[in-house]
Amino acid sequence: MNSRDSEHMIAQLREKEGYTMTEEFREADLILINTCSVRERPVHKLFSELGGFNKHKKSGAKIGVCGCTASHLGEEIIKRAPYVNFVLGARNVSKISEVLHKDKAVEIDINYDESEFAFDDFRTSPYKAFINISIGCDKACTFCIVPKTRGDEISIPADLIIQEAKKAVDGGAKEIFLLGQNVNNYGRRFSGDNEKVGFSELLRRLSKIEELKRIRFTSPHPFHMDDEFIEEFARNPKICKSMHMPLQSGSSRILKEMKRGYTKEWFINRVEKLRAECPTVSISTDIIVAFPGESDEDFADTVDVMKKVRFDQIFSFKYSPRPETEAEHLTEVDSEVASDRLSYLQTLNNEIHDEINAALLGNTYSVYFEELIRDGYVSGRSDNNIVIKVKGSEELLGTFQDVKVTTIGRTILTGEILA
Ligand code: SAH
Repeated sequence: MNSRDSEHMIAQLREKEGYTMTEEFREADLILINTCSVRERPVHKLFSELGGFNKHKKSGAKIGVCGCTASHLGEEIIKRAPYVNFVLGARNVSKISEVLHKDKAVEIDINYDESEFAFDDFRTSPYKAFINISIGCDKACTFCIVPKTRGDEISIPADLIIQEAKKAVDGGAKEIFLLGQNVNNYGRRFSGDNEKVGFSELLRRLSKIEELKRIRFTSPHPFHMDDEFIEEFARNPKICKSMHMPLQSGSSRILKEMKRGYTKEWFINRVEKLRAECPTVSISTDIIVAFPGESDEDFADTVDVMKKVRFDQIFSFKYSPRPETEAEHLTEVDSEVASDRLSYLQTLNNEIHDEINAALLGNTYSVYFEELIRDGYVSGRSDNNIVIKVKGSEELLGTFQDVKVTTIGRTILTGEILA
């Protein structure tokens, strides 16, 4: 989501302000830092990075702080780093041109509605297009700062999304990646008088774009994974068979404390339904360890879900208290216990992951190549999100090739293109 916000800002700056990009920040007239505030660490990093940029920037260059940390710290950023020229919140991206010309501007209104704003075009990759389908988040997860930095959830009108997808496909993209905090809650609220379209219907309409070959999305919320959604996912051949299911915790008690709206049993039931409908699906997840009050038994439930589901990929985090969240003042789990749990989970995940990967040797996948990487390799993904590299160069980019897996690695597999 932040990457797409950056693309939107770059688009406005190029088209409206005549900026171009530079690889070297010492030459830049404008330095934008787009921040995250989901966990505490990136916030600390912001101030140390700002110091470095300020010290080495070209004389007269402006510095802007954007994104979620901008939303939640606002003025304080300028107080702590007075050389910052403006602060622009995650929900105010379209105002980039405005703040650029007002010194010390702070635009962080989380009620500002950008859901129908027509951004200019800029994409980092011509092969894969990120497309926002909603702004904000309507959930009330007690650990999460996102609703406080991105505001209420508003869906972007379906016709705007389809228009954007068509434009990306005309520009050569064969894959689109739909973005939102709860994509499968799409359509619950629009800002204007827009046609009420739900997520499954949006997917059906997008898949009618002929030259579009692949549709991905993130994140769906387990609470909204009803049968219709899972069946559309399984049935629609353009939807990539890779599902992100953010578990957060395997303990029903902790899930309730987190206000996630589902139980351990519901989550496992949804995984079973998904695998029954779609046996090739790969499933990834997010897990928070040591949420306040998490006991050994609660953690054992998370481990149990890990063992039952055998996720293809996990993103795991130690709980980090965030300002203005319900859980902020709850007593934290001892930090050593928290670290032990995190490393236990990651070790278990590596074991599961190695077993899953080992079984892929010799398989053949249709890979969509999108990136040049080191040492003369090109990498891409299978439909079910396995990252595979082959020897090759530019001419492979933007093409689909059948690839046989020849070497297994932990984060990337190596393969050979079949003639
Ligand atoms: N909308 C997504 C969450 C996006 S934030 C959802 O509902 O699942 C991305 C991930 O960051 C979350 O899934 C969660 O695992 C992690 N996260 C969010 N707040 C956190 C916190 N306070 N401490 C640690 N991890 C957190």
